[in-house]
Amino acid sequence: MAGTARRILVVGAGITGLTTAHRLATDSQAGNAPDIEVTVLEASDRVGGTLRTGPLDDPVLDGLGVDAGADAFLRRVPWALDLCDELGLGDELVSPTARRASLWLDDALRPMPNPNVLGIPLDPDAVDAGLLGPDPDGSTRARLAGDGRPDRELPDGDASVGAVVRACVGDRPFERLVDPLLGGVNAGRADDLSCAVMAPQLLAAARSEDGLLGALRRAGTAGDPTAPVFAAPAGGMGRLGEALVDRLAGAGVTVATGNPVTQLERDGNAWLAHVDRAGGSTPFRAEAVVLAVPAHVAADLVAPHAPEAGRSLAGWRHASVVLTTFAYDRADLVVDPDQSGFLVGRTEGLLMTACSFAGSKWAHLDHPDRVLLRVSCGRIDDHRPAELDDEGLVAELRADLATTLGVEAPPTAVRVGRYDRSLVQFPVGHFDRLAAIDKALADGAPGLVLAGAIRHGVGIPACVRSGNEAAALAAARVAGLPC
Ligand SMILES: Cc1cc2nc3c(=O)[nH]c(=O)nc-3n(C[C@H](O)[C@H](O)[C@H](O)COP(=O)(O)OP(=O)(O)OC[C@H]3O[C@@H](n4cnc5c(N)ncnc54)[C@H](O)[C@@H]3O)c2cc1C
Repeated sequence: MAGTARRILVVGAGITGLTTAHRLATDSQAGNAPDIEVTVLEASDRVGGTLRTGPLDDPVLDGLGVDAGADAFLRRVPWALDLCDELGLGDELVSPTARRASLWLDDALRPMPNPNVLGIPLDPDAVDAGLLGPDPDGSTRARLAGDGRPDRELPDGDASVGAVVRACVGDRPFERLVDPLLGGVNAGRADDLSCAVMAPQLLAAARSEDGLLGALRRAGTAGDPTAPVFAAPAGGMGRLGEALVDRLAGAGVTVATGNPVTQLERDGNAWLAHVDRAGGSTPFRAEAVVLAVPAHVAADLVAPHAPEAGRSLAGWRHASVVLTTFAYDRADLVVDPDQSGFLVGRTEGLLMTACSFAGSKWAHLDHPDRVLLRVSCGRIDDHRPAELDDEGLVAELRADLATTLGVEAPPTAVRVGRYDRSLVQFPVGHFDRLAAIDKALADGAPGLVLAGAIRHGVGIPACVRSGNEAAALAAARVAGLPC
């Protein structure tokens, strides 16, 4: 096949783009895909996108790497775990030591019910009295003791998480437990989020003969409750990006940072990618282009060729979040070593949405002299973090930490990580909307493949899955082209 290599361009070097390139290179080398040449163009000066591990400015921590973005991935689904094994990272994976979490509700930290599925308690007798709020006639608890059959008809097809959970267990467990937990995953409102994307197991359970709670309890007894739920490389999630880049270098794939793709132009059967680089640049020609960028970036690139897809993508909402890492002297702050952290509901009036006790969660971050906290803020309907400068934001978060953990002393180090429009929201009917975009792209812009969190969800495994699928689609596209 020498001399007939097809070019595939991947735009964006986050986990989705790097996985796509890795899969293409591996399949091509194994002879499972056509002879292809893969290039990754990344706008920023670094790879990994949201995956970012680095030290805090605190000499006592001696360069200890702490995740500034994602810090773990779900291991109950295969995609990220399989990728780590493939990259030789399997032995480096660790799981959180502390697994219990709390909720800040009505001015107190209250333990999450155990067991629970996405906040839904499976054993009402094991629910902290304060978690459900006043329940004078016991009706909330009585409902949780039942099988959770919906008290109204659920719509056909997709429904919001709120519609499903409210119908099956009532408003209070939804508002006080499920919304803080599930809304925390993508900074959304669970009343607006697609159950088919965010919690397909809840949708299936709610429609089953056993009822929501009956089906979840049955599934719970089938699984191992002690099996670890999350995993991460001990060196931090940035290791995943590094390992992928090493593999790509070995496979002859170019990953070029500082190359923002600003425009795609049709050129016969191929595409020309225009890059905004100081001093100008020659457009990059490729037979297929994988767009592994946030949906709002993809919207601008596809709009001239598939206007309907461009409009739809531009309308997809994204939440902006800020993840701030604090280091405290151990003399100033004590956290429960058995707790991984706590979530904060939207009704509590705080800026923070979650606080993770990094040293209790990860053995390698359990420092003898420092307590490390990762504090999140920002929701789809809370824009306060974007309106505050870093100083104002840190002051507000410190006030929240004083309220929740009682720490008044100044931190020894602070790092603010802003992630603007980073978390895509999944409206009810998401998959239908996505199918319409794919069709518009296939009709108006053949060879452009949309990848990333928009496909299956924001979690790392979902992005890896999307990267795998995008590679297969791009390879199939170039295989079908005449030489
Ligand atoms: C604060 C935070 C914490 C999170 N925590 C977790 C967690 O613990 N576990 C978990 O599973 N998930 C977590 N997530 C979600 C997960 O990290 C992301 O969904 C995932 O990393 C997205 O990967 P991606 O490659 O699709 O996109 P990104 O990481 O956004 O990468 C896209 C890349 O495209 C580049 N780009 C943009 N425009 C252009 C252009 N025009 N040309 C070229 N390149 C461009 C960007 O610079 C970026 O590098 C978290 C997300 C955030 C924001």
